[in-house]
Amino acid sequence: MNCAAVVCGGTTIAIDCGIGFTDEDGADLVHPNFDWLQARQDSLRAIVITHGHEDHIGALPYFLKKVRVPVYAPPYAAALIEDRLAEHRLKDIDLRVSPAGAREQIGSISVERFAVHHSIADATGLILDTPVGTVVHTGDFKIESDPCEGQRFDRARLEEVGRQGVRLLLSDSTGADVEGRSRLELEAEAALEKWISRSPNRVVVATFSSNAFRLRAVLRIAKEQGRKVCLLGMSVNKHTETARTLGLIPPIDGLLIPPEEVSALRRNEVLILAGGTQGERASGLTRLARDEHSRLQLDAGDTVIFSSRIIPGNELGVLDMINRFERRGLEVITRDEHPEVHASGHGSREEQRTMIQILRPEAFVPVHGTHHHQRRHLELAAEEGIEQTRLVENGSVLELTRDTLRVVDTVPVGRVYIDGMQPLTEEVMAERRAMGSDGLITVLLSLKGDRLRHFPRVLSRGVFGAGNRAQVERKIAEHIRDRLKERRFASPAEAEDAAIEVTRQLLVHNHRKRPLIMADVNGES
Ligand SMILES: [Zn+2]
Ligand SMILES: [Zn+2]
Repeated sequence: MNCAAVVCGGTTIAIDCGIGFTDEDGADLVHPNFDWLQARQDSLRAIVITHGHEDHIGALPYFLKKVRVPVYAPPYAAALIEDRLAEHRLKDIDLRVSPAGAREQIGSISVERFAVHHSIADATGLILDTPVGTVVHTGDFKIESDPCEGQRFDRARLEEVGRQGVRLLLSDSTGADVEGRSRLELEAEAALEKWISRSPNRVVVATFSSNAFRLRAVLRIAKEQGRKVCLLGMSVNKHTETARTLGLIPPIDGLLIPPEEVSALRRNEVLILAGGTQGERASGLTRLARDEHSRLQLDAGDTVIFSSRIIPGNELGVLDMINRFERRGLEVITRDEHPEVHASGHGSREEQRTMIQILRPEAFVPVHGTHHHQRRHLELAAEEGIEQTRLVENGSVLELTRDTLRVVDTVPVGRVYIDGMQPLTEEVMAERRAMGSDGLITVLLSLKGDRLRHFPRVLSRGVFGAGNRAQVERKIAEHIRDRLKERRFASPAEAEDAAIEVTRQLLVHNHRKRPLIMADVNGES
């Protein structure tokens, strides 16, 4: 859910506009509450996107529905954003493609992009030229000693900026717990080559589909080893197409086959390239693991390579997939036993140290990662002799002057849950929680004049076992009748509220349950 604002004189720019994934209360995703940014829309000149990962671009459609503002993004991110805007039927958005090296004057802030290594093409950091000095935002980054083709890190430009003086560095903290240097993309590619060549039958390579370098590597290896490739899942198809269009993947004519043609080939002539590494319920990979894919089956002796990591929170789903594959006699290769099959997109401590040494900033603020990672990153900056450092929370307002760095205020922040492209209100979330944990009760009433007429009818689901459900429903109905029969109601709504309250009290006292309760008067009042 990355989103930061920089305010300088009368200019506000936002850096990134991301989502988080969640399945809390049935939501699909979550984005930051934009109220504060929306209130400043008169001074908001642009949203500047560092790179195309969902935690940096995913919330754009939701924000742009509220506020129209130009969006600057590097080419790969811009292509993804265009697709996303089309899904949301958002037209006439001012989307400006801005590659590494570009410089834009946005209000009183000059924004220059530099290329960084990361697990997505066209990842950039930002150099902001402000009246109080230069501010560098790294974006998500790693620094590879031997980058693969298309990966760039503008070290010479950063060294120049470092020599001219950097007032503040905002740096990616995600890898602050990992000593040393991160694995190279080329090392992951070599490991995949080894494991694919050793696989006697079909191979599935599951990876993060937004990493075009990894997709390109797997496509090349498959081609060289005489395997046709089946792209499994919407996301991996989409990203392959985008990467092809932008020239990040060389021509692959004749290499791809649809799922239904897999069984016609010999088992050692097939490679399945899949997304869905996190055990997402609807993904093609999960359906393969459950042997529920309509057009594709695997057999004992096939190999599944997880060229990915488990994002915290998804452990159970991923382990379930692995267990299902192994139970059916498939060979599963994961990063746990063979760490070389995946390379992280975030630099480890030594790369974070290198960034600080290149830029030698006067002040340092860790960003990205959790509080814990930021704290570890702060220690690193202190080791490097940076004196002005601050750890900030979501909503902190940090004031930077020529010589000071202080937290001066906090602004309201929060989360907005989205389900089916629409925001879920607090009320809906609370209803879902009540239904999910204690079920649903419906009370049907009828009034004659201002009094209860017939015996109320109570229906329940997910509250009582089917065996005694009818009996308990009847008892609740009797209780409502007894408590309300002498009452006079000024309106149907008053009768409904009274019925809900009486039912609620009974369920809490007698059953220790708090289901969602609805009441409806049939309108004969
Ligand atoms: Zn990223
Ligand atoms: Zn990120």
